[in-house]
Amino acid sequence: MIERSLILIKPDGVERGIIGEILSRFEKAGLKIAGMRLVHIDEKFAKKHYKAHIDKPFYKGLEKMITEGPVVAMVLEGLHAVEIIRKIVGPTEPRTAPPGTIRGDYAHHSYEYTDKKGIAVKNLIHASGTKKEADEEIKLWFSESDLFDYETVHERHVF
Ligand code: ATP
Ligand code: MG
Repeated sequence: MIERSLILIKPDGVERGIIGEILSRFEKAGLKIAGMRLVHIDEKFAKKHYKAHIDKPFYKGLEKMITEGPVVAMVLEGLHAVEIIRKIVGPTEPRTAPPGTIRGDYAHHSYEYTDKKGIAVKNLIHASGTKKEADEEIKLWFSESDLFDYETVHERHVF
């Protein structure tokens, strides 16, 4: 049941100076940071990360957005981590993301607006969508030696 998931704080989150606030939501939920680094990816790497979206009409805007500045890449670990993290992050479009979720509380972009502008929806975070996606993405972003195993106080209360 213990899973790992890949999370990115996208350039909009880094540039707005809310890395700490976003990170604290995951920490408070008891998720363990297994790996973390700041990285500025290029277009080639973006195509690997967002390979499922290359043929979509919003891809050009998505690539521009994810390569426009550094992202915080991290691997978070916990029970049902993929599902729990998606719940904390909220739905893709901030306009419809409910309050209490990161996308609902810290952003308000809409598809109606981004379609008009031809840009990607700015929603602060990427989080792996499935366990399979998580395994692939973690391999893409981190080498095994950059991931750490240690005990958190949460483990005393959860396990
Ligand atoms: P992510 O993969 O970044 O965690 P997600 O799984 O919620 O987001 P995806 O469908 O995988 O959503 O889309 C990847 C990213 O592409 C979104 O986070 C968003 O930034 C952008 N995006 C998705 N759909 C649209 C759209 N219709 N118009 C503009 N941008 C979009
Ligand atoms: Mg996705």
